[in-house]
Parts: sequence; C-alpha cells; structure tokens
Amino acid sequence: MGSSQANKDIVVLNTIKQIRKQVKDLKSNNKTIGLVPTMGALHDGHASLIKKAVQECDEVIVSIFVNPTQFGPNEDLDKYPRQLKQDVEICKANGAGLVFTPSSNEIYPEDKHLTYVVPSEYYQSKLCGLTRKGHFNGVATIVLKLFNIVAPDQAFFGLKDAQQLIIIKKMCRDLDVPVKIVECPIVRDNDGLALSSRNAYLTQAERAKAITINKLLFKIQELYNNGLKNKEKILNTALKILDADIELEYLEFLNLDSFKETNLLEKNTLIAIAAKINNIRLIDNIVI
Ligand code: AMP
Repeated sequence: MGSSQANKDIVVLNTIKQIRKQVKDLKSNNKTIGLVPTMGALHDGHASLIKKAVQECDEVIVSIFVNPTQFGPNEDLDKYPRQLKQDVEICKANGAGLVFTPSSNEIYPEDKHLTYVVPSEYYQSKLCGLTRKGHFNGVATIVLKLFNIVAPDQAFFGLKDAQQLIIIKKMCRDLDVPVKIVECPIVRDNDGLALSSRNAYLTQAERAKAITINKLLFKIQELYNNGLKNKEKILNTALKILDADIELEYLEFLNLDSFKETNLLEKNTLIAIAAKINNIRLIDNIVI
C-alpha cells in the first residue's frame, strides 16, 4: 500500500441515482473513471484489478453485486459468500474511491419480461456456456447495465474468466460501447490454485485435490515447451495428474482470437478447464 491514493476515504453507495451524481461530478472535473465489476468476497485477484485501475484512471469504482441473472436455478446464488465490510476495506486499501453495492431490487426493479443482452451463440456454445445455459446473457446484461450506470472510461476484467472477457470485448465492439476493456492476468495462491471466491467452499482435503487442476495446466505448458503439440498426445500424459475425485467438465484448446477449438497446440492457444470437487465448480486456464 505505497500510494497516497490508497489511504483516501472511500464512499459506499447503493443507488443508481447516487452513483450517477458522483460520476457527473467526477466528469465535470475531467476525471477519468475506471470500473472494476465484481460479485464481492474479494481476494488478491480482485485487488490486482483495482490496483491496475488505480494506475490507469483518476478515480476507481468497484461494483459489488451478486448478479442473480447469471446464476442457473441449481447454482450457488444463495450461498455465494457475502462479506461487504471486509470487501470495502480491501477496496480502500487498494486505492478505490467508490464502492457501488446496489440491491437486486435496485438493479432489477421489474422482475418480469426483462430485456437481455444476448451474446452470439458462437461464443456461448463452448466451455462454460455448455453447462451454464443463459449464464452469459446474465453476465453481458449486468455488465452493460453497469457501464450505462457508471459510464466508465475503462473497465477491468480478469483472464481467470477468459470466456467472459472475450464475450464482453465482443459485446463492446458489436454494440459500440465506448469503454476500453482492460484484461488482467490470473492471480494464484502459492500452491498455484487460481484465486476464486468459491475457493472458500473447499475443505483442506478438497483444496489439496483442487491444486491438481492447475498442476495439469502447468504440465501441458511443460509438454508444449518440450516440443509436444498434438492435443491427444498431450492429454494422454497430462490428464494423469488430475485427482481421481475430480469430475472434469471440460478441458479445451481454443485459438484465443478465433475462439475455435484446435487439436494443435501453438502460440495464442487458450487451454481452459472446468472441474468439480464435491459439487464445487472451479475454472482455470493458461494461454500458451
Ligand atoms: P467475480 O467477483 O468472480 O465476478 O470476479 C470479478 C472479476 O475479478 C472478474 O473480472 C474476474 O475475472 C476477476 N478475477 C477473479 N478471480 C481472479 C484471479 N484469480 N485473478 C485475476 N482476476 C480474477
């Protein structure tokens, strides 16, 4: 916490009207605004986005909203971790000036016949979109709503959710949304596990199994570095690393630009994995 920004006061707002007023004041003072959209339960991954935003923009707004429209009926909306007080401290310690934490009713006052942003089926029909039907409609809709509410110059997203990032970038291009999307690298724990709010669900024993997910990805990188390029051959070796209790949902190789599946590992390939341990769903990826 070296910067002078990191000790300034933080303002927590719950309504669209309040945040729009703050944004108007900032803009009339020619301040640039960075937005970090989150669902709370903040960790060092989120903190890295806030820090990057502080470097790039005059004022940083962190939104904390567990968005119901991106959760499926059997997903963890109700038990998703909520710890607002601690989150606000983390935002403050990392130099954000504003936290926007609206209620569901503030964001979705009408619960029927909602208008959704529907990302292209091409981008939705892969990876997480296969099992989380409608998830990216919910994500794109809340992100566009937040952009309309906050009107940021830049918005910061983690590569941890690679498909989400790609879909949001595409949405901004296709719908001429005037926000620069900044992508931030995955932050990992010392054991390599990608930080996630859902890691809080893991027991110590489950966590020990979970790290075989990142070990598998690093093994693939190692095999590639040693000259192996063929997906099937790579998986034959690498998949042995995954703990037997882990239920693999997908492990895909995709070209990062075209978002097309590939059997040949080469530069700019996204290797994305989703897996469950006792019904706790984790995702991770690396880019070759
Ligand atoms: P969430 O609160 O899970 O919706 O995440 C909010 C933002 O933080 C998204 O842009 C995520 O990609 C990003 N994020 C979550 N975990 C990490 C991580 N381990 N490293 C970097 N960014 C992350």
